[in-house]
Amino acid sequence: MAWDIVGRRFSDDEFDAYVAGLSLSRWRPDFIVLHNTAVPSLEQRPNGFTPQHIQNLYGFYVGKGWSGCPHLFVDQHGIWVLNPLTRRGVHSPSWNAVSWGVEMLGEYGREPFDAGPGALVRGHAISALASLCRKLGLDPGGIRFHKEDPKTTHTTCPGRNVRKDQVTDAVAQAMQSQTVPTVKLVIYRHGMGDQPAAIVPAVIRNGAAFASSLAMAEAAGIPAEGDALVSVRSFLGSRYSLKWSAATQKVYAVER
Ligand SMILES: [Zn+2]
Repeated sequence: MAWDIVGRRFSDDEFDAYVAGLSLSRWRPDFIVLHNTAVPSLEQRPNGFTPQHIQNLYGFYVGKGWSGCPHLFVDQHGIWVLNPLTRRGVHSPSWNAVSWGVEMLGEYGREPFDAGPGALVRGHAISALASLCRKLGLDPGGIRFHKEDPKTTHTTCPGRNVRKDQVTDAVAQAMQSQTVPTVKLVIYRHGMGDQPAAIVPAVIRNGAAFASSLAMAEAAGIPAEGDALVSVRSFLGSRYSLKWSAATQKVYAVER
């Protein structure tokens, strides 16, 4: 396969920390395009996507000969990452090179977006959009709907029950209330003196620090199997000594 998917479902908080830890130095989009899947509908996926559904989607896009797919698929339970957010995907003919594609499970031409399972999808989608907007420094008003792409044939996507003014207002509100991961993981490696190799965003949960495995892997020279929000101690502990400073709100990791 020329390309691969991340293939993992994140909670809202996990996704926020994951996005904060991504490096966009290789490819950085300008905005976000919102979609609905239409097929499958919520009725067809009453329990959201399973890992098998996600693999099937991947196979579907590979079978079409596409070089990528939409970045996110949001369902009733959280946020699936498919196309890596650090690479361009395929989801909107005019805008693939310059945007992230966010799919919401549902057919919002007829399924409600403000009640029942649609409201659950809406909640996770708003949270995901807020995390993505903050990462790009994008005003929520810069979010576009697929149907606004002049080249698309999907002239109703993401469905008339999804109102743009309501989405942008909700994202703006979520951006204000989202807890910014203020904790930092500072990684020092051999041979670099007192210059840190990297400073990686981290979150504290139940007294333990968590950070993106990919961000830590790049900084610490440890191979990672895919990208996930993992315990700093479990990931770095065998090769780095770790020290938390409440005064600076930083976790210091020093290579042994
Ligand atoms: Zn669409």
